[in-house]
Amino acid sequence: MTISFADSVIAEFEALSKDAARVQTETLRRILQENGEAEYLRNLGLGGRTDPGSFKSCVPLVTHSDLEPYIQRIVDGDDSPVLTGKPITSISLSSGTTQGKPKFLPFNDELLDSTIQIYRTSYAFRNREYPIANGKTLQFIYGSKQVHTKGGLIATTATTNLFREEKFKNAMKEIQSQCCSPDEVIFGPDFHQSLYCHLLCGLIYSDEVQFVFSTFAHSIVHAFRTFEEIWEELCTDIREGVLSSRITAPSIRAAFSKILSPNPILADSIHKKCMALSNWYGVIPALWPNAKYVYGIMTGSMEPYLNKLRHYAGSLPLMSADYGSSEGWIGSNVNPTLPPELATFAVLPNIGYFEFIPLERPQGEELENDASIHYIESEPVGLTEVELGKEYEIVVTNFAGLYRYRLGDVVKIAGFHNSTPELQFICRRSLLLTINIDKNTEKDLQLAVEDAGKLLAADKLEVVDFTSHVDCSTDPGHYVIFWELSSDASDEVLNSCCNCLDLAFVDAGYVGSRKVNTIGPLELRVLRRGTFQKILDHFLGLGAAVSQFKTPRFVGPTNNKVLQILCRNVIKSYFSTAYDR
Ligand code: AMP
Repeated sequence: MTISFADSVIAEFEALSKDAARVQTETLRRILQENGEAEYLRNLGLGGRTDPGSFKSCVPLVTHSDLEPYIQRIVDGDDSPVLTGKPITSISLSSGTTQGKPKFLPFNDELLDSTIQIYRTSYAFRNREYPIANGKTLQFIYGSKQVHTKGGLIATTATTNLFREEKFKNAMKEIQSQCCSPDEVIFGPDFHQSLYCHLLCGLIYSDEVQFVFSTFAHSIVHAFRTFEEIWEELCTDIREGVLSSRITAPSIRAAFSKILSPNPILADSIHKKCMALSNWYGVIPALWPNAKYVYGIMTGSMEPYLNKLRHYAGSLPLMSADYGSSEGWIGSNVNPTLPPELATFAVLPNIGYFEFIPLERPQGEELENDASIHYIESEPVGLTEVELGKEYEIVVTNFAGLYRYRLGDVVKIAGFHNSTPELQFICRRSLLLTINIDKNTEKDLQLAVEDAGKLLAADKLEVVDFTSHVDCSTDPGHYVIFWELSSDASDEVLNSCCNCLDLAFVDAGYVGSRKVNTIGPLELRVLRRGTFQKILDHFLGLGAAVSQFKTPRFVGPTNNKVLQILCRNVIKSYFSTAYDR
């Protein structure tokens, strides 16, 4: 019997994960051997040693800002071995939506290979549960602008660096995910036009579509919210075989001349199916009858979109995609049948050297009057030394010049696949909301919004998107939550939502401060519809990619422009009375 592609990928992963400790040591040895000549490592006095002990004693834990001067030299054209043995020829720009501005990060062939390995691994496990035939996928993916740095290097988002590579495209064909849309749409000059055309291509090839995908789930929800508004125009294009005049990019128009021809039968059938839907429930299986699932990153800051995604996906399973960052990939979802809320990521022990800083939440008196002490940290442990149920911050050493780099993500050990841990993503490490002794993360905010959002359900309303801010212009300062709603809500409902939000932040620091009024009543500001679209457009203007976009869940003083957009679009605001006596 011949062994299938998927079986051989699974066998390879099983072997790696059974031997994770040894593979880690070997991976570190390779990284240090290949890059031993890099100035950064030479200066730290490793002297060619490649064992974990010497590595940890010579190389310090760093954050992005520690490496920034080195990366900047590379960006400016220094082609000496600064961080890596072989010079870096491409730069990735992180989405910048988590920290307010994009970060430059080295990109090279090794990162490309590890991406392919991660994608193949999760595909193999997915395909075992939900086999797909040869066909196409409806992918909401978008290249972003490429810029040439002062030193002549190409800088673009990590996803764009991938989408452009022939090697990546060929590997994706192998895992049967050929995008319905031509490259001209993926790399189109304008996001709105590309989105329109992705939907149009998806409809043209509707019978062939095997699954629906975007890198982050936000893009799928955004696409179908748009679909609700433009579906009739899409039908007209298909009926008449003429591309809408809203598509002005000549490259896209030229590409469509080969794809689009009058097809009134298809247009009528789409029209009929859309009319038969109730509030767009199950639109994906209705229009793409052969789609087996919906796929994309659905964890972390994507969780708030799950309700809407489930609504559009109807009977189709949602499958959460892998875990990684512009810094490099970390883990693959090898348990695809788990719902996104429970998704875990098995670390691939050969794509980097991973350490984990144990984090403990301070209890009671340990809560200090210092917002930076949110967790109690201890010495980092190795990949196979982590303990079930504990939380850690990930530290990455990779083949692209990052050594003991703190990623800033908090994960929990949810289990083990053989001897490699399965991580559950918890949140970004950075605090979002803090005024004095209160400490609330993105996850705390998400849970608060989820709680308060339930009060809207009776009126069939939903939170389209949300973010937060700390307003210290009042005395005392207070939390501000910005909401964009799907439709208008009554003052009565919004007042209750506001109180509910205030009570939903349950950390002792917040509750205590609210009781003694060292933090003022929480304020809920309701935004005009379309405000988050303006924020997305703002980030796109800065060169961010839709494919990596994550709504910033906190807007601080460093992000003045976003705060201005928000403040200009407030239609109403409410103050909590939850702690009034
Ligand atoms: P960027 O490099 O800008 O694309 O952002 C990378 C960050 O996105 C990571 O550090 C995580 O915080 C987040 N992220 C990536 N993959 C996942 C995932 N599967 N689940 C939750 N968050 C993720």
